[in-house]
Amino acid sequence: MMKLSKLFFTASFALTTFSLCATAPELAMASPEPDTLPIEIFESSIKTLEENHAVDSMRVLANYNDSLSHYPAYELYNYSWSHDRLNPYRIKIDSLPDSVYIHCADFVYPTKSNRITSSFGMRRSRYHYGIDIGLQMYDTIYASFDGRVRIVDYERKGYGHYVVIRHNNGLETISAHLSRVHVKNNQEVKAGDPIGLGGNTGRSTGPHLHYEIRFLGNAFNPTKLIDFANKTLVNDQYYITQRETYSHKKELDALAMAAYHTVRSGDTLSRIAQRHGTSVRRLCQLNGIKETSILRIGQRIRYR
Ligand SMILES: [Zn+2]
Repeated sequence: MMKLSKLFFTASFALTTFSLCATAPELAMASPEPDTLPIEIFESSIKTLEENHAVDSMRVLANYNDSLSHYPAYELYNYSWSHDRLNPYRIKIDSLPDSVYIHCADFVYPTKSNRITSSFGMRRSRYHYGIDIGLQMYDTIYASFDGRVRIVDYERKGYGHYVVIRHNNGLETISAHLSRVHVKNNQEVKAGDPIGLGGNTGRSTGPHLHYEIRFLGNAFNPTKLIDFANKTLVNDQYYITQRETYSHKKELDALAMAAYHTVRSGDTLSRIAQRHGTSVRRLCQLNGIKETSILRIGQRIRYR
C-alpha cells in the first residue's frame, strides 16, 4: 500500500521558468513504482481538496494509475481530471507559473466563420471570458489542438451544450452554445476533429460559437494566440506570462471590487454619486450611461 504522504505533491507554483513539452503523455511515470488506485478515490480526493479550498496543496495525488497517467498535461494540472468542474484548480493568476512555452503548431481553427461578434473582456457588469464567432446553425466545430475531452455538459442559462478539451500543450479550450455534441468524456481528439455543431443553446441570442482558451483554469484573450481574421496562429509557440497573457487582470480585480446601488424613488445620479463618494461622470463611465439618462426604480447602478 502506498503511503499517503506520497500522494501529495507539495511544490509550490512559484516557479519562474516552466517549460512544457508538447506531448508528454508519460509525465507522471517518472516517480517511484506506481501503485494502482481506483478512479473513485482520485475523484473524491479532488472534491475534498476543493471543499477545503486547499489551493496550495491542491497539486495532488501522485496517482500513477496507468489509465489516468496519459491525460494531457496531467502533471501540470496536478493530476486533476474532473468531469464536472470547469475550473477545479482554483489557481489565482498571481500564482500561475510564469513564462511557459505553449506549443501550438498543430492548431486548427475552430470553425468556418471568422466573424467576431463579441470580444474578450468587460461586458457591463459581467466579464466575457471568451470570444464569440458568429456562424450558421450547424456549422461544424473542430478541436483546436490534440487532446482529450474533459467535459461534455449542458447549462440552460449559460454555455448551453458545451465541450471542454484539455490539450496536450497544456491549454484547455471551451466551445459553447453548440446544437449537437459529437464527442464524449475522455475521448481522445486530434486537432481538426469535429467535436460538434454550432448553435444557439443556453444564454445566447443567435447562432455563435463562444470560444475560450484557458491555462490552469484562467481564461485569456484568444486573440493573443489566434489571428482570427486569417484563421491562423499569431505564432507557432506562445509564451505565457502573467504580465502579458493576463494583462486583463486589472479589470478582473476592479470587477471583483464592484458595488451596486439599487435605484429608489427620488434618486438622481448626483445623489447616488454623493452618497457613495464618487462622481456623476464616474457613474456614467461605469454604467455606460449619460448624465441625462433616466433612472428606473430598481435599476442597479454600479458605483465602484
Ligand atoms: Zn461568448
